[in-house]
Amino acid sequence: MHAFVRFFKSLLLLELLRGLLLTGRYLFARKVTVQYPEDKTPLSPRFRGLHALRRYPNGQERCIACKLCESVCPAVAITIESAVAEDGTRRTTRYDIDLFKCIYCGFCEESCPVDAIVETRFFEYHFEERGPHIINKQQLLAMGDRFEAQIAADRAADARYR
Ligand code: SF4
Ligand code: SF4
Repeated sequence: MHAFVRFFKSLLLLELLRGLLLTGRYLFARKVTVQYPEDKTPLSPRFRGLHALRRYPNGQERCIACKLCESVCPAVAITIESAVAEDGTRRTTRYDIDLFKCIYCGFCEESCPVDAIVETRFFEYHFEERGPHIINKQQLLAMGDRFEAQIAADRAADARYR
């Protein structure tokens, strides 16, 4: 009996009409497609994009070379070497992040006691060959200088929700 009803319905093309009805409904509905890169979707203050090393307002590097970020990184993407600077503080002499290994988990910034290593909202980058995928200390500091206003605003906004 069921098979007969199904066969009869198929003759009436009911499924086809139901499908066309659905298509028609979305044809005139408000479009949600974002025309990237002209249009961009909003990003969370917690967005995890390209990394940056921050400085204090007086220009001093925040990083104290404690290596917590290096040890917590599950992808073993961070390489740090350190030495005692002229002013007696411990500073990194090398801070590399291998972006091919990084999984953007955010553990490094979560572990940092001085808010030095952070992940910015910047995600529009790519690599065409091996080499540039390892981002070094100077590049990380330059990222921090470039996005400091945004980073500070994001961290202030994030703190309000904690
Ligand atoms: S985001 Fe995660 S994987 Fe990437 S460097 Fe930081 S801790 Fe390592
Ligand atoms: S970035 Fe933060 S956690 Fe990593 S070595 Fe520097 S101070 Fe320590």
